[in-house]
Amino acid sequence: MDNDCLFCRIVAGEIPATVVHETETTLAFRDIDPKAPVHVLVIPKDHHPDVVALATADPAGSADLLAAAAAVAEAEGLRADGFRLLFNSGGYAGQEVFHVHAHVLGGAPLGPMLA
Ligand code: ADP
Repeated sequence: MDNDCLFCRIVAGEIPATVVHETETTLAFRDIDPKAPVHVLVIPKDHHPDVVALATADPAGSADLLAAAAAVAEAEGLRADGFRLLFNSGGYAGQEVFHVHAHVLGGAPLGPMLA
């Protein structure tokens, strides 16, 4: 755990979050500033700064994260109409929290990704 990391502190229960799904290695909770009717963040419980770091250090953890994101999409009823699964990685992409997180977005047409 990184004590300066917001999402590590959510995993530790030090900062509240609306948790919608949890496994031994992952946690999923609602985004505090949703960009779609459904906006859930899915994170590994272990600290990795971005998706490249996670994929390099922990391939099994990467697979766990993808499976958890899929389970969230299913549970939130997003599968039939479709949804977006997104990682922002680094400054140009606008990553603000440097604990890797998958955004699960859906519940309405989302429009072009780079608009
Ligand atoms: P961006 O803000 O550009 O989407 P990130 O990909 O780093 O950058 O996403 C960070 C996400 O974390 C944002 O969608 C933000 O609303 C969300 N967030 C920040 N603080 C919290 C929190 N305490 N609980 C839930 N979501 C949070």
